[in-house]
Amino acid sequence: MLDFDLTEEQGLLERSVREWAGREVAPRIRELDRAHRFDPGILPQMADLGLLGISVPTEYGGAGMDYICLGLASEELEYVDTSLRVIMSVHVGLNSLTLLSWGTEEQKQRYLVPQAQGRTIATFGLTEPSAGSDARGIQTVAIRRGDHYELTGEKMWISLADVADNFLVFAWTDLEKKKERDPSGMSAFIVERSFKGFSSGTLTEKWGILAGNTGHFKMDAVEVPTENLVGREGEGFKIAMFALDQGRYTVAAGATGLIRACRDASVRYATQRKAFGVEIGSHQLVKELIAQMESDYQTSRLLWQRAGWLKNQGRRNTRETGLAKWFSTVASERAAGDAVQIHGANGYSDEYPVGRFYRNCKGAVIYEGTREIHKIMQADYLLGYRTDRPTRCELPAWETR
Ligand SMILES: Cc1cc2nc3c(=O)[nH]c(=O)nc-3n(C[C@H](O)[C@H](O)[C@H](O)COP(=O)(O)OP(=O)(O)OC[C@H]3O[C@@H](n4cnc5c(N)ncnc54)[C@H](O)[C@@H]3O)c2cc1C
Repeated sequence: MLDFDLTEEQGLLERSVREWAGREVAPRIRELDRAHRFDPGILPQMADLGLLGISVPTEYGGAGMDYICLGLASEELEYVDTSLRVIMSVHVGLNSLTLLSWGTEEQKQRYLVPQAQGRTIATFGLTEPSAGSDARGIQTVAIRRGDHYELTGEKMWISLADVADNFLVFAWTDLEKKKERDPSGMSAFIVERSFKGFSSGTLTEKWGILAGNTGHFKMDAVEVPTENLVGREGEGFKIAMFALDQGRYTVAAGATGLIRACRDASVRYATQRKAFGVEIGSHQLVKELIAQMESDYQTSRLLWQRAGWLKNQGRRNTRETGLAKWFSTVASERAAGDAVQIHGANGYSDEYPVGRFYRNCKGAVIYEGTREIHKIMQADYLLGYRTDRPTRCELPAWETR
C-alpha cells in the first residue's frame, strides 16, 4: 500500500530541524557566508538534535531513525543553507553509514559510536587533484608493512577537510592493478587526523557554500594500523560506490530543500514587488517560473522519498538514488537561476538570499557524480550496459533492524 503521510516521528523530526535551523542558523547565515566562515559551534547543536547519528542504530550511539528521516533532515538543513546539509552528507551519508555496513565490530565501537554521538566528526576522501569522476585515476597508495599500511597521497576538494577527526580514505593496495586501472586493487581505510604525517588545509578560492569548509589533505607515509582497513583488501572501490548511494541520497533531498527555498523566496518577492502597476506575480512569465519551481520541488521530493523507502526496505537503490540526485540537483540550478531572475537586480545582491542559493546549488551538480556521469548511468541502465550486482555488505534495512 502506498502511503505519502509522514509518521509521527518523521513529522516531529521535520519540525524540530526546521525550527532549530530557522532559529539558530537562518538569522546568521548571511554573515557567515559573507565572512567565508564555518561555525564549528553548529556541530554540537546538531549532535544534540541527534542529527549526527540520525539513521545509526541506538546500540551504536545513534538516534535510530529511518532513512526517510535522514532525507527530511537533509531537506530542512539545505532549506537554510547548503553548508548544513553537507555536514550530513559526509559525516552520516558517506562515512558513518558505510562503517555501519562494512565496518568490523571493533571499528564500530571505536569510530562509529563517537561519530554518531557527535563527539568526533568524519568525512570522505576519494577525490584527488588529478582524479574526480575517474576514481580509478587516483594516485594514493597504501603499502602493507607488517602490522600497518603506509599511506601516501593527496586528496582534494574534501568537505570538512580542516574540521573532521576521521577520514574514510581510498588508496591502491595493489600496484600492479593500479597500472592496469583494475579497481579490485583499491582498498578503504579509516585515517585519523592525529596520525603522524597527516596535514590538511582549506580551499580559500571557493565561490559557493561559503559557510562550509572544503579543503585538501596530504598523507606523507602515514602509518595506518591494519585494523583500520575497512572491508577486505581490494574492496575499496565497491565501498566508495556503496558510500555514494547514501551520500547522493542526502544531496538529492538537500537539493529538494534548496528548490523549496527558491520557491518560497520567489513567491514572497513576487507578491511584494510591483512593475507596470501590478505585483510582478501577476505577469504570466513570472508565474511560469514559479510554477516550474513547484513542479520541480514536488517531483524531487517524490524521487528522494522513493529512494528512502527502498533503503528502509533494505532494497538496492543505486539507480533510483542516482536519478533522484541527478534530477533534483539540475532542477535546483534551474530554480536558483530563476529565483535570481524574479528578484531582478535585487537578486544580484547579497541583501536577498537567492544569490547565495545560486552560488550554492552548482556544487551539487558537480559532486557525488556530475550531471554528465548521472546521465550516462541512467542511459546505461536502460540500454542494458549497466546492472547492479549485490555487494558483500549492504545497508541494513530499517524495519528489520
Ligand atoms: C564543494 C565540493 C565539495 C566536495 N566534497 C568532496 C568530498 O567530501 N569528498 C570527495 O572525495 N570529493 C569531494 N568533491 C569532489 C567531487 O566529487 C568532484 O569534483 C567530482 O567527482 C567531479 O570530479 P572533477 O572535479 O575532477 O571533474 P572531472 O572528473 O575532471 O570532470 C570535468 C568535466 O568533465 C565531465 N566528464 C568527466 N568524465 C566524463 C565522461 N566519462 N563523460 C562525460 N563527461 C565527463 C564532467 O561531467 C565534468 O563536467 C567535492 C567537490 C566540490 C565542488
